[in-house]
Amino acid sequence: MNRALPILYAATTNPGKLRDFSVAAAGSAFAVEPFTRLGEIPAPEENRPTFEGNARLKAEYYSRFVPEGAFVLADDSGLEVDALGGAPGVRSARFAQDAGSQREPGPAPRLGWLGADDIDVRNNLCLLERMRGVAQRSARYRCVLALARGGETLSTADGSVEGDILSAPRGTGGFGYDPLFWLPDLGRTMAEISIEEKHTLSHRGRAFRALLPKLRQIAG
Ligand code: IMP
Repeated sequence: MNRALPILYAATTNPGKLRDFSVAAAGSAFAVEPFTRLGEIPAPEENRPTFEGNARLKAEYYSRFVPEGAFVLADDSGLEVDALGGAPGVRSARFAQDAGSQREPGPAPRLGWLGADDIDVRNNLCLLERMRGVAQRSARYRCVLALARGGETLSTADGSVEGDILSAPRGTGGFGYDPLFWLPDLGRTMAEISIEEKHTLSHRGRAFRALLPKLRQIAG
């Protein structure tokens, strides 16, 4: 008999995260589906100082809007650059905005890379500027996943991946800071690997695999 897979509603509109989740869920005995009403609901302010705090906040908030008893999976993630004291960290999505580049409204500069998303382009430009002339390039991506139901967090899991920040972008895959995130062991950036490889070694893939045993216990 075919039993429907338990659904985890992904509390994100970020297409990059949604793609990563759908690869992560393949073969996991769970189905990760976008929470399609997310855009109609006022977003909560992500004002916690940690990835875990923000992941819990999003998961708990959106779990009040899904069908009763349904699970919500929220991700808070970002880039920590050692030479910048761990910045942008929880502010990764708003790095350029925080730096004040919103003072120049209008389309993002045409760079011939990552042209799809102005915010990503601006964030990458901001990172390149902050890292100009900096010798120490080590960084990591971190991700915390929170699973909630009925307004309560049931479990969390985290994952990270180490790399270096390049001084020029490489590759057209992935999203966010991927074209600047160099994986020394592979000799490629996160934007130059397949989505399956990204799942194997990325912060989000690792966090999802760490969450799976807990998920199986909870969903029973
Ligand atoms: P959040 O929505 O507050 O979790 O923002 C996460 C931000 O961190 C994204 O907008 C990206 O800028 C960055 N980020 C997180 N994960 C990744 C990734 O896998 N690749 C590239 N950038 C990422």
